[in-house]
Amino acid sequence: MFDGPMTPEQALLRVIHCLDRSQASGFKSKAFVRALDVVRTTDPDELATRAQSDTLTDLDGIGPSTAAVISEALAGRTPDYLARIEAESQVPITPEGQVYRDALRGDCHLHSTWSDGGAPIEAMAATAMAIGHEYMVQTDHSARLTIAHGLNEERLTQQLDQIAAVNDEIAAGGHDFRVLAGMEVDILEDGSLDLADHMLERLDVVVASVHSKLRMDRKQMTERMLTAIASPHVDILGHCTGRMLGKRPPSDFDADYVFAACAQFGTAVEINCRPERLDPPRELLDVAIEYGCWFSIDSDAHATGQLEWQPLGCDRAAERGVPIDRIVNTMSADDLLAWTA
Ligand SMILES: [Zn+2]
Ligand SMILES: [Zn+2]
Repeated sequence: MFDGPMTPEQALLRVIHCLDRSQASGFKSKAFVRALDVVRTTDPDELATRAQSDTLTDLDGIGPSTAAVISEALAGRTPDYLARIEAESQVPITPEGQVYRDALRGDCHLHSTWSDGGAPIEAMAATAMAIGHEYMVQTDHSARLTIAHGLNEERLTQQLDQIAAVNDEIAAGGHDFRVLAGMEVDILEDGSLDLADHMLERLDVVVASVHSKLRMDRKQMTERMLTAIASPHVDILGHCTGRMLGKRPPSDFDADYVFAACAQFGTAVEINCRPERLDPPRELLDVAIEYGCWFSIDSDAHATGQLEWQPLGCDRAAERGVPIDRIVNTMSADDLLAWTA
């Protein structure tokens, strides 16, 4: 990943990336996030002196493992801990899934520090580029999801300005990569969307997801979803059942109506790659394939390392036989924009 020697900051960021992609407990990565904060706020000369005299752990927030990473990076070596976690955290994929992964050119669902993600847009973009994508759609949460610090109209407007600035920087750096503007908009209880039409119109790609009242009765949930699917603004139906493996059952809706509507209105069914979601479940994915739906294989990443979770969805798509030419993020950015328009 890095050719030259790393700074302590780069080494810590890479450790955090690997811990996130390996699904390590948040507890482990928290220690490195804390150390990163210390490194960023400590005078580099002091860090170097402390590394020399073995007193990094005297700093509040630096423990033995984080101190080792910092001093090995300062000595110009790849830290041992990083080398180990780099190897151990590779996300496995089957040969059949790899065919799908190779076909993907972007990711249509991911979060940043604007809502409940752990990394800024620039860092998500740098990672997306490094793993070979041509584009990513920035889809932070909408205002109704207050626990996720969802964006209201005003903050979304600011974010759109920032996305434009990030794109300018990427282009100035000579990279062929684009951040597309999007949002993961909440589907409200009556099926309407948690964002005004004039803002929805400004977005390149809209993911719509149910996050509340997941236990609504079957008929109501079906109507709620159909209303959103039929909206001309909605491009992708996010994690359709809302299930959390081992924690929350899937919501109940009439899959025939829902996927027939997705096919009819050209709303892609997301194959959500998060390991605790893997949504839709197999039997529903089969129904969606039968109706000839479009699909989108998305990481729903809330951290840079999680952008590497697409193999999980690719394996699932391969297992059920999702037609590759129906997966919208195998398109180029221009073709995707034409498809959503
Ligand atoms: Zn979220
Ligand atoms: Zn999301």
